[in-house]
Amino acid sequence: MTPNVEPRLYVAAADELAGRVIAITGAGSGIGRAVALACAAHGAEVVLLGRTVHKLERVYDEIRAAGSPEPIIAPLDLERATAREYDAVADAIGARFGRLDGLLHNAGLLGDLSPIEHYDVPLWARVLHVNVTAAFALTQVALPLLRAAPDAGVLFTSSGVGRRGRAYWGAYAVSKFAIEGLTQVLAEETSGVSRVRVNAINPGPTRTAMRRTAYPAEAPDSAPLPEAITAAYVCLLGPGGRGMSGLSVDAQAPRP
Ligand code: NDP
Repeated sequence: MTPNVEPRLYVAAADELAGRVIAITGAGSGIGRAVALACAAHGAEVVLLGRTVHKLERVYDEIRAAGSPEPIIAPLDLERATAREYDAVADAIGARFGRLDGLLHNAGLLGDLSPIEHYDVPLWARVLHVNVTAAFALTQVALPLLRAAPDAGVLFTSSGVGRRGRAYWGAYAVSKFAIEGLTQVLAEETSGVSRVRVNAINPGPTRTAMRRTAYPAEAPDSAPLPEAITAAYVCLLGPGGRGMSGLSVDAQAPRP
């Protein structure tokens, strides 16, 4: 399916997401925080999912201070959560709203940059679990709520190394390839039988803690701040993304 708008250039109306409920994993910092603030600024009621409650509380305060709709804090550690905790999150959203209009799988673990030959096996399993299996499990419990929305956008987070493998990126790169696959499979399954759209987004180089860890020698200001890349997220999580599904989208213009 070809995009009818270029998501990274999308200009959302001030109240574009009013009345929409949008859940975001890893909402306490980095890109997740910026997208949560942007969605709230466009009127969404945001469900802040994350493992570090004080970070979620800070984002809650920022959203309220901006005069945006009150968000909800939903602690969820994607490494340790059991089926009961996934169900509890879905039940809480269902009880309060009866539906979910957007779901951004943003949380991610970098793991080690190390050759496959030396990659630590338990760390490999942790990265695959947080980056892929947890996103799958959360999607599974959320699907009835997403189907209950008039139109819903699911957005998985990919990476450049999820499209073209790169030496030493190990479990992280493999997990992002898996995310591209999960996006395609779920997009086909929802197409024609529901109004749920499913896409992947590659943020591109963005100034966050993960970026600093992956590129310690890079000049800090060589990558844009998370606040500068939110247009494509707002597009795909809201009505701007109607008609788009099964795509792998860039949040930034590709670098030359
Ligand atoms: P950060 O490291 O800044 O943020 C990662 C987020 O994931 C944090 O909020 C973190 O929570 C959360 N998280 C990690 N582990 C868990 C867990 N077990 N349970 C719940 N939440 C968890 O990274 P970015 O903001 O840069 O990354 C966001 C997404 O974008 C990731 O999927 C990443 O792979 C992707 N990406 C980033 C790029 C970049 O240049 N920054 C480039 C390409 C892709 P906490 O704060 O509590 O640790």
